[in-house]
Amino acid sequence: MNLRKKGLFLLAAFLLTSSILVNAQNKGTFIPGKVAQSQTVAQGAGPSGEFDKYFVQKTLRIDYFLAGDSKTEIAYFRDMRQEPFWGGPHDNTIDPFNYGTYRYSAYDSASKKLIYSRGFSSLFQEWKGTDEAKKMKRAFPMTAVLPFPKNTIRFVIEKRSYATNAFEVIFDRYINPSDYFINRENIHPLKVTKIRETGDPATHVDIAFIAEGYTAGDMEKFRNDASRLSDYILSVEPYSKYTDKFNFYAIEAPSDEAGVTIPGKDIFVNTSIHSSFYTFDMDRYMTTFDTKSIYDAAANVPYDAVIVLVNSKRYGGGGFYNHYCESTVDNQYSTLVLIHEFGHSFAGLADEYYASEVTYSDFYNLKFEPWEPNITTKVNFNAKWKKMISPETPIPTPKDAKYNKTVGAFEGGGYLSKGIFSPTMDCRMKSNEAPGFCPVCQDAISKMILFYCD
Ligand SMILES: [Zn+2]
Repeated sequence: MNLRKKGLFLLAAFLLTSSILVNAQNKGTFIPGKVAQSQTVAQGAGPSGEFDKYFVQKTLRIDYFLAGDSKTEIAYFRDMRQEPFWGGPHDNTIDPFNYGTYRYSAYDSASKKLIYSRGFSSLFQEWKGTDEAKKMKRAFPMTAVLPFPKNTIRFVIEKRSYATNAFEVIFDRYINPSDYFINRENIHPLKVTKIRETGDPATHVDIAFIAEGYTAGDMEKFRNDASRLSDYILSVEPYSKYTDKFNFYAIEAPSDEAGVTIPGKDIFVNTSIHSSFYTFDMDRYMTTFDTKSIYDAAANVPYDAVIVLVNSKRYGGGGFYNHYCESTVDNQYSTLVLIHEFGHSFAGLADEYYASEVTYSDFYNLKFEPWEPNITTKVNFNAKWKKMISPETPIPTPKDAKYNKTVGAFEGGGYLSKGIFSPTMDCRMKSNEAPGFCPVCQDAISKMILFYCD
């Protein structure tokens, strides 16, 4: 089956992965090289109720690079800055999900207590699987944000090992909040429109839409696009159950020129975020190497998640868990692409498709359970959606019309036709033809919404 002709997604968001809840989060202390194994992750673990003890209501932003080649990986520090807002939850400072190929953590230096953590994914991890990564080294910009600490923290970035599935430390340093090399320059102010405001950023999901490829004269269109797409998101299950939980902001980052860069068509457009199609030479894969500009713009609001809206009719986008997602706005499938990519970036969902012209065969180590909630190798199926399958449904579930509305375990997903299983025959994480998100993806999205609302 040719997915391009079917109009399906080809937009990878996760490649190398692994799984089984390797979790040092509840231990409270950091022991280099030693990772606690646990399959339970208590929501709200960590310094619940102690936000004010450890943090002030601002952002500490750490920019760095993930760099290397197919075999090596190093995180290089770039710089730090203080930003004026913090939109994240106060109780849920510790990540309970254990999603992401990476995670970053902050430990209170004096007590060694874990006070903040988040899992995330990166474009670099995908690039590591390309032929180019066998021939050269390359650096990819990344950003970590956390509430601004009151006292010295130990900041650690870890990556899951493909071979062992355990987290390994790739970056480790102390950060003193009074360090005068934390940049305190004013942010570059951009006009912000509150598209939808339902409550306190600390107890609501705050989405920052950032204008990309809109000139100063296009901002009315941008505000209308942001409004239309926020309405769309809130019309889709399970978001539609939580319409009172979302704040949306439209951040007017003006571009010199309208549109977006499409190298394969010899189209080069100078835009605010410098997005480009043809990421890894895939014609519909749109990402940016200028994530710094994304976060410079986002600093104008308190945010939990960032969505870059790209002023183009072309089909495509990209999304990375806890980093950013982007989508064009004027294609007939733009709403579907946007909600699919946001599924990656917001809820850590995997692609459920598997037939594509790109071979992703090494992205998942089938010896382990993948970390994404909506695919399984059945290595630890109990940790996934097995309990949502009724006893009369066979596992694996045949791709038979009588099961087309049934939650089961259908072979194929995560770019592989064998060895990885998906919850339903179709889902928004699989195709544009699906009626919506499958029950397993809906459950994962709902949990993430509630996490940000604590
Ligand atoms: Zn799904």
